[in-house]
Amino acid sequence: MTKKIFNGIVGTSAVTNAITLILVNVLEVNVFIKTGIFFISVLTAVIFALRISKKITRPLVEVNLDDPKINYSEINPLINKIRIQKGKISRQSNEVRSGREQLSLITENMNEGIVIADTRTNILSCNSGALRLLGAENVSEGQSIYMLNNSEIFRHCIQDAMGGRNSCCILKTEQGDREIIASPSNTTDMVNGIVVFIFDVTEKQQLETMRREFTSNVSHELKTPLTTIYGISDMLANGIVKPEDVGQFGQNIRSEAERLIILINDIVSLSKLDENSVPYEDTETDLYSLAEEVIKRLQREASEKNITLSVVGEHVSIMGNRTVLDEIIYNLCDNAVKYGKNGGFAEVKVSHIPKKALVTVSDNGVGIPPEHINRIFERFYRVDKSHSRQIKGTGLGLSIVKHGVIYHNGTIRVDSTLDKGSVFTIEFPIENKK
Ligand code: ADP
Repeated sequence: MTKKIFNGIVGTSAVTNAITLILVNVLEVNVFIKTGIFFISVLTAVIFALRISKKITRPLVEVNLDDPKINYSEINPLINKIRIQKGKISRQSNEVRSGREQLSLITENMNEGIVIADTRTNILSCNSGALRLLGAENVSEGQSIYMLNNSEIFRHCIQDAMGGRNSCCILKTEQGDREIIASPSNTTDMVNGIVVFIFDVTEKQQLETMRREFTSNVSHELKTPLTTIYGISDMLANGIVKPEDVGQFGQNIRSEAERLIILINDIVSLSKLDENSVPYEDTETDLYSLAEEVIKRLQREASEKNITLSVVGEHVSIMGNRTVLDEIIYNLCDNAVKYGKNGGFAEVKVSHIPKKALVTVSDNGVGIPPEHINRIFERFYRVDKSHSRQIKGTGLGLSIVKHGVIYHNGTIRVDSTLDKGSVFTIEFPIENKK
């Protein structure tokens, strides 16, 4: 019985196990199928969703923003907004572009240089004037400002501006003298960048040097005769001059005073020409008659050296300033006599070529050494200072001649041979001085 029951139980549980096994297998297959179906459904949904969304967005993706047109009435308000916004952006960018073009047109046509740099000293903007003035043709925006010039003085100037201070310096370059003005661009306490201006000051510096030299030469030239006059008059006042020498001492005072008067007159003439403030109006002036008047005044000096002083040529008139023209011819003739040989000649020739009057002053005197020719028109320049001391002169005569000729829009040239003589040739335009 027990065995039966046992067998019964064993038999029942085996069937149950078998059924359970079958059920489990069936269930597993079911879960697998369901999972498969689930993934297929998800995949299909994703594919469909993608296709649908692509279909929906295609008109938006394909829309031509230059001319937005779309057939969906729902999207039209958005398209309109885009159109308006696009119009605004295009207007603004046009304004910015035309502003930039105008700015670059202005700065590119400036003679001065202008550079804008950021706080890291990189160039943000730089006109061609700056490159030309600093001789740095290959430097471009984005590069360091020190690529323009790397000198100590330039660096110092830029660093000062970067530190928030206005800075200025003079740069001596191969191209000439440049004035650099660097200014910081500040907001509250912060420096946002710097603006650098570059000016060509070569001529200004030369004029400044000339002015300084002129002042020191004038002081020296005035001091020399004054010291002599002071010394002699002091001796006379103290009665230490023998009565028989008083005449000679008086003569010395007179000649030194004469030198002073000539010097002061020359300085005054030159300053008037410098300032373009010569007295009297321009008039029709006959150069031949003027030359005749001039040589009359120099006849005494010419006779002392047995020099034949003459005027040849023809009557030619120009519109000019008679006082200045007189000074020109006088100084040239005075030199021809002063530097002429005893028994020689000095000649003024007046003639004309088309639209021009020619004045030639020639002599057969000492001549000018070739290495000095280019300098004789400089103020206070005398070829042989030691020798020139015996020949009276201020070294200003030819400067007055040069400036007088420039005043009349003319030209002057010199041909000279040492020990043979010199020829100074001036060309004046006949009509229309200015
Ligand atoms: P200066 O008062 O010395 O004559 P200038 O300016 O008139 O000054 O002339 C400058 C220099 O040029 C003179 O010192 C002289 O050496 C030279 N010079 C000018 N004219 C002549 C000339 N006709 N012949 C030779 N040398 C001349």
